[in-house]
Amino acid sequence: MTEQTKVPASAPSDSLLRRWTGPQTSDLVLSPGRFGLGRVPLRLEPDATTGMVCGFCATGCGLQVHLRDGEALNLSGDPDYPVNLGMACPKGWEALAPLRSPDRAVTPLLRNPATGQMEPVSWVRALDEFTVRMKTVQAAHGPHSIAFLSTGQICTEEMALLGMLFKFGMGGLHGDSNTRQCMATAHVAYKQSLGFDAPPYTYADFEQSDVLVFVGANPCIAHPILWQRVLRNPHRPEILVLDPRRTETAMNATQHLALRPKSDLTLLYGIAAALVARGAVDRDFVEAYTTGFDGFEAFLGAFTPERACSESGITREAFDRAVDTIARGRRVSFWWTMGVNQGHESTRTAQALIDLALMTGSFGRPGTGANSITGQCNAMGSRLYSNVTSLPAGRDFRNAEHRAEVSRLLGIPGDRIPDEPSLAYDQILEGIEKGDIRGLWVIATNTAHSWIEQDRFRRLVGKLDFLVVQDLYASTDTARLAHLVLPAAGWGEKDGTLINSERRIGLVKRVLRAPGEALADFHIFRLVAEAWGCGGLFREWTDPEAAFGILQRLSRGTPCDIAGIRGYRHLDECGGIQWPFPETAAAGTSDPVRERRLFEDGRFFTPDGRARFLYEEPRGVPEPADAEYPFILLTGRGTSAQWHTNTRTEKSAVLRSLYPAEVYCEIHPDDAARLRVETGTRLRIRSRRASIEAQAFVTPTVQPGQVFLPMHYVEVNRLTRSTFDPHSRQPSYKHCAVHVERADRTIAIPRS
Ligand code: SF4
Repeated sequence: MTEQTKVPASAPSDSLLRRWTGPQTSDLVLSPGRFGLGRVPLRLEPDATTGMVCGFCATGCGLQVHLRDGEALNLSGDPDYPVNLGMACPKGWEALAPLRSPDRAVTPLLRNPATGQMEPVSWVRALDEFTVRMKTVQAAHGPHSIAFLSTGQICTEEMALLGMLFKFGMGGLHGDSNTRQCMATAHVAYKQSLGFDAPPYTYADFEQSDVLVFVGANPCIAHPILWQRVLRNPHRPEILVLDPRRTETAMNATQHLALRPKSDLTLLYGIAAALVARGAVDRDFVEAYTTGFDGFEAFLGAFTPERACSESGITREAFDRAVDTIARGRRVSFWWTMGVNQGHESTRTAQALIDLALMTGSFGRPGTGANSITGQCNAMGSRLYSNVTSLPAGRDFRNAEHRAEVSRLLGIPGDRIPDEPSLAYDQILEGIEKGDIRGLWVIATNTAHSWIEQDRFRRLVGKLDFLVVQDLYASTDTARLAHLVLPAAGWGEKDGTLINSERRIGLVKRVLRAPGEALADFHIFRLVAEAWGCGGLFREWTDPEAAFGILQRLSRGTPCDIAGIRGYRHLDECGGIQWPFPETAAAGTSDPVRERRLFEDGRFFTPDGRARFLYEEPRGVPEPADAEYPFILLTGRGTSAQWHTNTRTEKSAVLRSLYPAEVYCEIHPDDAARLRVETGTRLRIRSRRASIEAQAFVTPTVQPGQVFLPMHYVEVNRLTRSTFDPHSRQPSYKHCAVHVERADRTIAIPRS
């Protein structure tokens, strides 16, 4: 840890903070918890029930929160919410438990350079420290020597304010979000192919398809409520699952194509080629609404069924059956999640699914679409409004007209708006490695656990002059490395909106007081703005609902236009509203259509209105198995009771009872027999980066030569390899080579 920097003559002081027109920091001391109130948009009756959306995953379930004396007592699934129809997964049912955890951060904490210990400080001191040290870094190393890493877990209004504060107010350029780890591929794939980052579907499509193709997706446990929607499908659909593992979803499918890890691009091109060969192309749709099919058709000539089968390991019989099913389907939908998004050629793989949907005319009709299922509860909000890689509402930093529009709509001087986007997450870390980035602000994410090749990040922290972590807990792996911790309110302790997988904007409400001096992220950003001296730029951002109004203004005329929404109350009354919802859609109707899909008119968001076929020759995996590292490591979600780095889900005793406390490794019975391993045997798993131990779980859900580790355990990303898709810069978590042995032996494992 570095020593605290000296306060320069121009240091902000308490008097600067007092210029702020909102509640003063002294209020915090006098009345902890009051500060997060802001303007409460919906008056909550003391002993009533109020609806809000869940803050874990992007399914976006509606929950009914039951209040006593105006505060949440418990909750249940909302039977009237159009997403979940009364259902909720274990995380949703336990959503209040993490807020009540005794290890919540309740006051700012500052590391004492003499003792190395974190010590409680006032907000005034914390904001002074933040401002002085970040400005000191900038003064010494340039304005772009500070960066932030944010999240898809906070409200849209909050992430928008952060992005604008950092870039337009603090003079920073580089900030990214953990949505880079889950949804960057879908974002780039849609943008390049369809002209805008626009997942086209509505959840009703799960019930209306006669063929559903899931690629690298395990909705049974990752999006269990969406799987319930599949189960409501009355058409006895064919369900195809392409996944190396026999996942819970694969077990419930009608066809499981257990392909070799990362052979999906070749297999998808092979399926496309076979569809062409059997005349299953919707030529009318292709002619009317797309461009580039001729080139794609020629490209597919190299992807014979023999090649697709030999490279993917799929039998010819299974391949032909899958092609036949898709060809005969009338309403075919293609769905993908992290098995696609987290790969070394993930953007082209996602686009192969888009290509398949386009060539079969599977767009804009009920039960169709190339549909990326989003991960985090507000990854979609981050993609549209976080002001990171795109200016708000999908605008381009490099486009002078777009910058001028944003300047005019926000009243921000044009010269404060950068003319280039941020570095991506991995490039920010590279900047730290090179010494170009010296100050880092981490908000509601746990990089020291979740980042690929995790040890590297932990080493890089030592190169930072200043690391700030803003989170609900001071106990996260990343917070424990920080110089300064800012205590944040969580979901349920603040107001705002989240945008779910089907583009539905849902409401989050303040139904509990944040503990101690923890503040809503929105208000922390406002305080930072004031402390920094740029609060004047954000006078209009008085509270989340006012910020939502600003985002509506920014969206007007764009594909994600939400100008027709009449405030938070309208969202509340309608059970959320899907974007786009322009003023023209709002006119004349008090009940927005609840289930809406995009591209019903065949017009896409590209300049010529046509969707593009995009494709590329597949590339080999960067780290194949070899004699020294003979197993392929797969990672993914363990159970529906665990969420990502387990920061919140581990706080619930109920959820803890639903998953193993220690990391476990799924291994095939054949490999287990060869290694003389049984379920419960301690394994040592070694990659070129690190070595960890895990309990064996012998199961045929993984194929011979492959092992699976759930990502929720902190050890797992010590093994993974820094590999990124070149278009989306999304990490490839799903493939690296490892060596496996009994932890009490050191012999190499022979392979048959
Ligand atoms: Fe919450 Fe997702 Fe579970 Fe629904 S499926 S209750 S949104 S975690």
